[in-house]
Amino acid sequence: MDLAAPPTQLPDALRLRRHLHIGGEWTSPAGTEVIDVENPSTGDVVGQVPAGTAADVDAAVAAARAAFPGWAATAPAERSAHLDRLHTALAARADDLARTIAVELGAPLKLATRVQVALPLTVLRDHVALAARPPVEESIGNSLVVREPVGVVGAITPWNYPLHQVMAKLAPALAAGCTVVLKPSELTPLTAYLLFDAVTEAGLPPGVLNLVPGTGAVVGEALAGHPDVDLVSFTGSTVTGTRIMRLAADRIARVALELGGKSANVILPDADLTTAVKVGVGNALLNSGQTCTAWTRMLVHRDRYDEALELIATAVAGYRLGDPFDPSTRLGPLVSAAQAERVRGHVERAVADGARLVVGGPDAPVPAQGHFVAPTVFADVHPDSALAQEEVFGPVLAVIPFDDTDEAVAIANNSKYGLAGAVWSTDPDAALAVARRLRTGAVDINGASFNPLAPFGGYKQSGLGRELGVHGLAEFCELKAIQR
Ligand code: NAD
Repeated sequence: MDLAAPPTQLPDALRLRRHLHIGGEWTSPAGTEVIDVENPSTGDVVGQVPAGTAADVDAAVAAARAAFPGWAATAPAERSAHLDRLHTALAARADDLARTIAVELGAPLKLATRVQVALPLTVLRDHVALAARPPVEESIGNSLVVREPVGVVGAITPWNYPLHQVMAKLAPALAAGCTVVLKPSELTPLTAYLLFDAVTEAGLPPGVLNLVPGTGAVVGEALAGHPDVDLVSFTGSTVTGTRIMRLAADRIARVALELGGKSANVILPDADLTTAVKVGVGNALLNSGQTCTAWTRMLVHRDRYDEALELIATAVAGYRLGDPFDPSTRLGPLVSAAQAERVRGHVERAVADGARLVVGGPDAPVPAQGHFVAPTVFADVHPDSALAQEEVFGPVLAVIPFDDTDEAVAIANNSKYGLAGAVWSTDPDAALAVARRLRTGAVDINGASFNPLAPFGGYKQSGLGRELGVHGLAEFCELKAIQR
């Protein structure tokens, strides 16, 4: 077929993939259907991967099952050495990975390089160290409590951070001694193929990591419902997470769910407002708002409200939409036409619900080609309105005023989600007190940096379980009590 991306962006070999990766080999799929990969900046088809089937999932799970006893019995130092080789092979592909993510997701190249690729490399590096440690054992009374790998993991991942979401599962699974079948998002599968090029080069034992691309309806369902998958580790929407839990329930398979969010950024009256707004807007718009932890509700004390709105409008004006490969671009397109349509629907509903448009909106100019949505901010958003309650997953910020701290905490916690949040104050005790009251899996005070060793995950409908660091590793282990 004639592919559209200019060869300077990605060579054909990285874009036209015909195989699955099963049992350590590039194998032919059982079916003949393919999935077109689109460049959301142009709408052109730029790549193709096989559309896997249930038969492919069976083959991949069988390979992972066959590899499990050997990998589980491999000494920690040896597993760590394998991860180290994978890190070397992946790091050597950093430029190709960033360009691939810029092409298939539309992330600006700088963001793709510094976050989308750098973060998973850090996570993998961390797991080289975590894998080397002998599994934690403890004595409780007459019991020896040991940790054992949970078994075969079905990993199902979304498109918004196509390498990081995969690495947050593969690295701890491998470190714990599990084997894996990965189904990446059908919107961004090429990044996963580059990862498996690195897997091949690193020489991981056959069957330890397997790749079956395909749709959620076919490959995702087959994997989540597979009788020989012990743990389904899923990142994606809450709706799909609910379905995954149902599929796993029949056999009491373990599930780990990283789902949606509607995080609140609470700006107390004594905060450094200029920094709080600048960082807050940057967080809400990161990756064109396609970030599960995005602080999409900015809660500002009424005394500083008008000042904040002016600062927000100025900050948003600095976000240039455009080609991800243009160095001046700060916001790329949304990942697909469907996603852009969904986000525009949220914006139109907010207008209809009477929210006050501060910047952007349905009529703001966007590039003619591609799935672009203008960064949009609404003020006076009612805490119960759809815009304050529903995850938009686009560059849309809801600003909500509050009169005192109790009200701010109540608004922040008025959500079915509980993934992340932020607090700004020049008084560290006041900030910490609010952070403790937020019903979320993470809270950042005064723009503190992301910690890839801290547990990551949600309260309420934002998920079940935690990823990253020692707590993430624990998800891939069973506990056994041996009495003596
Ligand atoms: P999605 O739920 O549509 O898809 C996620 C993955 O699940 C994809 O690989 C998809 O093919 C697969 N899938 C879809 N239907 C399935 C089914 N019936 N059975 C099995 N698998 C199925 O989500 P998305 O649109 O790819 O990602 C956006 C969502 O992900 C947002 O809601 C976002 O908040 C969430 N997310 C959460 C986190 C987190 O860590 N908490 C991180 C990133 C994204």
